[in-house]
Amino acid sequence: CGIVGYIGKRDSQDILIEGLKKLEYRGYDSAGIAVFTKNGLEVRKSIGRLANLEEKLDGQPLEGSVGIGHTRWATHGKPSDVNSHPHTDNSLKFSVVHNGIIENYLDLKDELIAKGAKFVSETDTEVISHLIAEEYDGDIVKAVQRAVKRMRGAYALGVLTEFEPDRLVAVRFASPLVIGVGEGENFIGSDIPAILEHTRDVYILNDGEMAILTKNAVELMTIEGNFISKEIFRVDWDL
Ligand code: GLU
Repeated sequence: CGIVGYIGKRDSQDILIEGLKKLEYRGYDSAGIAVFTKNGLEVRKSIGRLANLEEKLDGQPLEGSVGIGHTRWATHGKPSDVNSHPHTDNSLKFSVVHNGIIENYLDLKDELIAKGAKFVSETDTEVISHLIAEEYDGDIVKAVQRAVKRMRGAYALGVLTEFEPDRLVAVRFASPLVIGVGEGENFIGSDIPAILEHTRDVYILNDGEMAILTKNAVELMTIEGNFISKEIFRVDWDL
């Protein structure tokens, strides 16, 4: 039920975990993160409190300056390690965190299975990672746009691919998502508290809008691919 994401030059693991802690008020039953490490896109996730995830990370930390994190409020598939986010495709090159519900996930799942996808979880979300992998032909932004066109329902998404490790893609439809603009680093979050420690400059995404983050820039566009410009919202309150 909460999303955070970081792209910059600092180590991302603690930024993601601290951000998720700020979203605990939204409720959750499991949590996870994915980080680009020297071994590629690596995922750690755990049922239960964030402390359980932190315990796993204490043993095997994820080092890297790009990552996404998630606290889950299960809607499709029971709370479990496997059903926790981030979810990946079969190549393990794409990683997705999702808040919301994909209403047509069973149809999409059947389609994807018929084409050879192997599902490991019971979630609606896993269809998104397989869809994006299927739609990918060298540009993660276009792949996400094509994938969301096939989805019905509510989604806030954070997407990473090992093929483009300098980009983090975020999309929103009927689930909240904000983009935090920093210096040499940028953020995504379900809500402002998740990123307020790091920046007060925020873009609030509307339905059907997406953001492409690099460490030095944020581009905004619609899911149809039209660039948009937006005023920065300057947060003038504290937690
Ligand atoms: N529907 C997704 C799931 O059950 C996402 C739930 C959420 O928003 O946390 O995994």
